[in-house]
Amino acid sequence: MFQSTRSTCTVSDTAAVLQGIAPDGGLFVDAGIASRSFDVKSCMGLGYTEIAKKVFAHLLPEFSEKIPSIVSVYPKKFSAAEITPLRAVGDAYALELYHGPTCAFKDVALSVLPLLITAAKETEGVKEKIAILTATSGDTGKAALEGFHDVPGTEITVFFPDGGVSPMQKAQMVTQEGGNVRVCAVRGNFDDCQRGVKEAFAAFHADPLRCAGRILSSANSINVGRLIPQVVYYFSAYSQLLSAGRISYGEKADFVVPTGNFGDILAGYLAMLMGLPVGSLVCASNANNVLTDFIRTGVYDRRRPFLKTSSPSMDILVSSNLERLLFYAAEGDTELVASLMHQLNTEGAYTLSGKPIQHIQEHFLAGCCTEEETRAAIADLWKEHGWLSDTHTAVGFAVAQKLKGSLDSSRPCVVLSTASPFKFPSAVLSALGGTPQEDEFETAANLSALTGIPVPASIAGLKEKKVLHTDVIPVAEVVDYALRSVD
Ligand SMILES: *Cc1c(COP(=O)(O)O)cnc(C)c1O
Repeated sequence: MFQSTRSTCTVSDTAAVLQGIAPDGGLFVDAGIASRSFDVKSCMGLGYTEIAKKVFAHLLPEFSEKIPSIVSVYPKKFSAAEITPLRAVGDAYALELYHGPTCAFKDVALSVLPLLITAAKETEGVKEKIAILTATSGDTGKAALEGFHDVPGTEITVFFPDGGVSPMQKAQMVTQEGGNVRVCAVRGNFDDCQRGVKEAFAAFHADPLRCAGRILSSANSINVGRLIPQVVYYFSAYSQLLSAGRISYGEKADFVVPTGNFGDILAGYLAMLMGLPVGSLVCASNANNVLTDFIRTGVYDRRRPFLKTSSPSMDILVSSNLERLLFYAAEGDTELVASLMHQLNTEGAYTLSGKPIQHIQEHFLAGCCTEEETRAAIADLWKEHGWLSDTHTAVGFAVAQKLKGSLDSSRPCVVLSTASPFKFPSAVLSALGGTPQEDEFETAANLSALTGIPVPASIAGLKEKKVLHTDVIPVAEVVDYALRSVD
């Protein structure tokens, strides 16, 4: 059962997955997560799919008998036997989350979300088509399209910021095939896209008939069906640390998470609430460092320039999932959360004080880095350790380095590696001292030649694909576009 962060309204697991966002504009949360006991130890030593079964059964019990078949897609969709392998990189670790079909960590959740939605429709007896609306800073869009294309009873519309994603990310999206998909560029940034999608939901809730025959849902991490699959790899990482002999059961591990919408790191917090021995959760940001300021001071202020960086999936000033952390930190005080979110909407800022911010500071550290520091981290990781990092993961390593003094050096430090370097070949190649070409595919091939690491087949294959989606709209048209049917 889930409740809204902004009121005591509760819904079933299946309804939460289908609706995506609560009717009052809040996000669905599992209010009792810390009080239901979970047998963490029983997950240790198991393979990924087995751990996933246990975590899903605990967090989405109403899906019970469907869970084994849902999580059985992982070995079919991921190219690594461990699904999310942990690699030693110097004295830290990289948790490689990018071995799925679109080469970003979003595949972990979006490989199973369509199955969760289909199962939820069955349970709830829903006959309407589920229309997925998604705003993307680059990676969610393609992973969602890959998951939902041609899934019966669904359609999907993806909005991305025009000029705000990497050329490879754009190529992945605009070449997407499938009869139920629509991809549209918006003349604005990610926050504009995300706001447009939220407004479309509000318009839908106010007048559901505008979407006759369809129910809107979301593939963004505002959907619990996106968040919960991400909890699994924290358990898997811990189990891999145990197998490697790096820790004994019960010792804590720190996790460094390259953060944008605060979904990935929130999944780590949920794992901690379930009893996983997590030390610090380090929120790593690029130059868009609104979260660094918030975690350090309690002041969230989005009134600042939106900066375009080489880690575009983290170019975000309004991190949706922080609302969930506020709910837990404020011990379920929905009035406080609603009032802070109202202030954020109307004034662009809010301040969290007292026990809630102390709770956050007890479990989270935060840091940010510049473009120069990101490039230096990519070069160092390759030269010192022979490990090739993408720009987002490099932000994580750079921040881990900067915060070294605040972390307990006896604990293992796991940096979540969120994308394949071949999604951002120009930035990565130039960090290594190479010269990017006009053509991204040529650049990717040069990066491969320099490092001896093959270009993932799903990226190399894009070159031959036809561009199928060319719509570009102003921000003001997002709601109308979203509420129109795909076909
Ligand atoms: C989405 C994304 C992030 C940020 O994750 P959040 O869950 O939005 O915080 C970081 N790196 C990459 C490569 C991503 O695609």
